[in-house]
Amino acid sequence: MKKVWIDAGHGGRDPGAVGNGIQEKDIALTVSLGIKQRLEAGYQHVQVLLSRSTDIFLELRDRTTMANRAGADILISIHCNAGGGQGGFESFRHTNASQASVRLQNTLHKAIMNKFGGIDRGQKIANFHMVRESNMPAVLTENLFVDVVADANRLKQKSVIDAIIDGHVQGIANHLGLTAKEVRPVTPERDINVPSPWAESSWREARANGYFDGTRPGAPITREETAIVINRLRRNFLALFAGVNGNIREIEERLQKIEADQE
Ligand SMILES: [Zn+2]
Repeated sequence: MKKVWIDAGHGGRDPGAVGNGIQEKDIALTVSLGIKQRLEAGYQHVQVLLSRSTDIFLELRDRTTMANRAGADILISIHCNAGGGQGGFESFRHTNASQASVRLQNTLHKAIMNKFGGIDRGQKIANFHMVRESNMPAVLTENLFVDVVADANRLKQKSVIDAIIDGHVQGIANHLGLTAKEVRPVTPERDINVPSPWAESSWREARANGYFDGTRPGAPITREETAIVINRLRRNFLALFAGVNGNIREIEERLQKIEADQE
């Protein structure tokens, strides 16, 4: 079981970057929850742990302490950018990052750019707490600029948020070599009240001969229902052997008499 730590930046009294009607903390939380949902639903043997799953404030120190204690295999910290410019996406690893962190950044950055395109500001290094104090390979992603109007407009679109989530999920799956869960084709439920085409004429005949009452042709049969059908067959054969003709009441009476005589 691989453990992925997703850290939604900011939260609570710390909104992060704010602009154009967007708060960084909200985007970070939505993306983080989406990554957990899709990664666990789509891949085997992976568990996603979150610094926060609601709008609460957390110190940076507490975030890395929790991730280190949990023994997470990788950590990704989710943020949005600010500071103007042309906008776009960039990712950070630590200034003295491990080779594993470099690999994680390479894989993740590429997968995210593949999914949502736009301006690629590149793979960068920085002395950020989240990538410095994590014991495991760690990358911080800056998902568009809230203070660039074009980026902010994109962040308001569900399709863009979905692409950011999918990019992270794909990058994590690639880095950890996760196996996708088998998606079973959904077979439409049959209507048990309609006979299958291949059984239609037999069903009609059995019904006409009184072996079934004609309801629920597609339902499973119980032992007691089987007993009723067998007994109906048995009576018909007995009547045949005894040469009994006539209506069902006469046949019943004759059969009872024959059975009584046999005892
Ligand atoms: Zn931030």
